[in-house]
Amino acid sequence: MKLINLTLQGLYGNKISLWTLVSVLFVALLPSCKNRLKEKSDEALMKMALEISQKNLIIDSHIDWPEWLLNFPGDISKRTQQGDFDLERANEGGLKATMSVIYINSELGVDDGRELVDSLRRLISFYTETYPDMFAAALNPDEVRSNFSRQLFSLPVCLENGSPIGEDIEYLEYLKDIGVVYITLCHDETNQISDSNFDEYRQWNGLSPFGLEVIRELNRLGIMIDISHSTDSTVYQALRYSSAPVVATHSSCRHFTPGYERNLPDTPIKLIADKDGVIMVNFGSMFLDSVCLRNCNEAIGYLKSQKITYYSQEGAAYLDEFVKSHKVVTDSKQLVNHIDYIVHIAGIDHVGLGSDFNGVGPTQPADVRDVSGYPVIIFELLRRGYSEDDIRKILSGNFLRVWDKVIEKGREINKISEI
Ligand SMILES: [Zn+2]
Repeated sequence: MKLINLTLQGLYGNKISLWTLVSVLFVALLPSCKNRLKEKSDEALMKMALEISQKNLIIDSHIDWPEWLLNFPGDISKRTQQGDFDLERANEGGLKATMSVIYINSELGVDDGRELVDSLRRLISFYTETYPDMFAAALNPDEVRSNFSRQLFSLPVCLENGSPIGEDIEYLEYLKDIGVVYITLCHDETNQISDSNFDEYRQWNGLSPFGLEVIRELNRLGIMIDISHSTDSTVYQALRYSSAPVVATHSSCRHFTPGYERNLPDTPIKLIADKDGVIMVNFGSMFLDSVCLRNCNEAIGYLKSQKITYYSQEGAAYLDEFVKSHKVVTDSKQLVNHIDYIVHIAGIDHVGLGSDFNGVGPTQPADVRDVSGYPVIIFELLRRGYSEDDIRKILSGNFLRVWDKVIEKGREINKISEI
C-alpha cells in the first residue's frame, strides 16, 4: 500500500511512517474515550446504566431462590416481601436469566438428597409451566438468547453439591436429563467427590478417585464444573483433569479477604482464565471486604452458639444491635474492585456476576440489596471507564461463551468415543 511508504517529518525531527502516527493517535484516543465517560455527570451515567441494563442480556450464575421458597413460601412471578429475587424486581434491575440453584445441605444422605433434587426441580418447573408467558426453561446458551428475544425470563437449573450422586456415576445422566447445566462439586463439607474449603477435614487432598471419574463424565455430558466451595487443591486438580473450561459460579478474590479460602487466590484465577473459564463475583459483603468478613464471622458464631437463625426474632434483634457498632455490609464500589482485580490479572473475558442472592442475606452490598441492583454495578463500571462492549461481557457474554464451549467439548468427546 502507498500509505506504508508515506513518511512524515516527526515531531522530534525524525522521519516516522504514517502508520506509526495513526497507531500513536489511536492509542492516544483510547484513554480519551474512557475519560469522556468519566467526565459525564453521575446522572447521565446512571441513565446510561439503566439503558444498558434494560436492553442487554444479564445473567446471574447463582441465586438460591428455590431453596428460599421452601423456607419462605411465596410467588416469584409477583413482588415478594422477603428474599432478594422475584420477577418484578428482576425486571427493574434488567436481569433476564438466573441459574436456579438446587441446593443440597451437606448433612443429607444420598436418598434424601435425591428426593430434594426432584422436589426443587418440580418447584422450578412449576414456574415455567404455570407462567409460560413470563418464565422459560433453558438447557443451553442459545435457549437463553432465544428466551431473551421473546422477553421470557430464563430459569436454567444447576446443582449445588454433588453429594446426591453418591458413588453412582450414571446418576449424572439423570441430572443431565432433568436439565442440570452445572454442578458445584461440594458445599460446606468434604464429600465423596472432593474436599470442601469450609471443612477442616481434607480427606482427599483435592479430588477423590471417584471425583476424577465425575470430572470426566461431566466433560462428556457437557455439564459445567463449578469449583466454588472447593479447596485450592481441588481447584488445581479440576483444572488439570478437566478437558473443558471450569467456572467459579459464586466466588470472589482472596486478595481482598486474606485467608478466606472460599475466595480464589490469584494463581487459580489466572489458571481458570488460561483454560478459558470464568470467575463470577459473589456479592456477599463477607466475600468482598475483610472487615465485613471478620464481623460477619463473629455474628454467625454467636447465632450458631445460641442455635438461632438471623431471620428469627431473636436473631434479628441481635443483628440490629450488632450492626450499630460493627461494619457488616460494603457497597458496589468494593464489588467492582473485585471485578477490576480479575480484569487486571486475568483479562476482561473471564469475569461475570454470581450474586449468591438469597444465600448471603443480610450481607448484600448496601446499594445492591437485591436483583433490582444490577444498574448500580453498571453505573460504577461506566464511572471507571468500562466500555459498553466490556460491560456486556461481564453481564452475560463471558458466562455464555464458557457454557457454549463446555457443551461443544462434550459433543467432541462423544464423537471421538463413537469412532
Ligand atoms: Zn454456595
